[in-house]
Amino acid sequence: MAKMRAMIVPEPRGGLRLVERDLPEPGHHEVRIRVHACGVCHSDTVTVEGAFPGITYPRIPGHEVIGVIDALGPDVDGFDIGARVGVGWSPGYCGYCGNCRRGDTFACENVQGATGVSRDGGYATHMLALASAVVRVPDGLDAVESAPLLCAGITTFNALRNSGARPGDLVAVHGVGGLGHLGIQFAARQGFRTVAVNRGRDKEALVRSLGAHDYIDTNTDDPAKALQAMGGAKAILATVTSADAMQAISGGLGVNGTMMVIGAVGNLTIDSLGLLFKRASVRGWYSGTAADSEDTLKFSQLNSVASMNEVFPFEQAQAAYDRMVSGNARFRVVLKFAS
Ligand SMILES: [Zn+2]
Ligand SMILES: [Zn+2]
Repeated sequence: MAKMRAMIVPEPRGGLRLVERDLPEPGHHEVRIRVHACGVCHSDTVTVEGAFPGITYPRIPGHEVIGVIDALGPDVDGFDIGARVGVGWSPGYCGYCGNCRRGDTFACENVQGATGVSRDGGYATHMLALASAVVRVPDGLDAVESAPLLCAGITTFNALRNSGARPGDLVAVHGVGGLGHLGIQFAARQGFRTVAVNRGRDKEALVRSLGAHDYIDTNTDDPAKALQAMGGAKAILATVTSADAMQAISGGLGVNGTMMVIGAVGNLTIDSLGLLFKRASVRGWYSGTAADSEDTLKFSQLNSVASMNEVFPFEQAQAAYDRMVSGNARFRVVLKFAS
């Protein structure tokens, strides 16, 4: 029987282990993808460290996947073998539950969890995915370069375009890491006056080259005061991993401003007076669906938005994961598969 190779997490905090398995056959509404590249995202710690209850092990992480369809299960319409496709965090949706029927397929009541968490992901030569999770990847987009657009990319692109900010508005991107370096590119190319906010000045030249028009160093400036001095932010894209840092910048919102929270930081304390006098809001944002990912890829291709990546061979997934967890990668980490 044909085989695949996978990096499994045998148990929480058990590390990654390379195994060989029988190649699975796609079930109803599923496709099988031969993986060309898979990004290594901080959310993979959910699976590797066992941070969510109810994950069954062994489990294959990975939710920034690009490859080609190499088998179709029954009842799959619209996709052909050989098509270039990807899969992101969203594991797909049913299409018939209450939320799906209202268009909120991201909150499907029947297909829950996430790729690489509740079902096996892309740290493997092959994976199965529901057709409703499958993203069409344009020709000309390199798999290794583009894989992070399917999580870090869609999350920042989609939060920004749903933030209520319009071209010319002041938008702050808080944090210059895996998410922020993409958020700055998307914000500038969506037409916003883009302010990068980060500690220290070592990344200033880089973020200006990515499109940032202004820069706030939180080591020397109060970010809320600095944004107010610019007129107040119509949107703040909060990518940082510190609740204190998010709280400190929330006062920089302008009238009708919205802070889009895409970094998971636990509890946040926000001054309610600061919100109500400005009719401002703090909003969480789910990354998006397969259709949102397709928009992200097309926009990125049209506007030359690119993730900066450190690339590791698939067999070195543990080293790649450790590099991602270190926080020192510039800026995303991607696994490349020998074709
Ligand atoms: Zn992710
Ligand atoms: Zn549903």
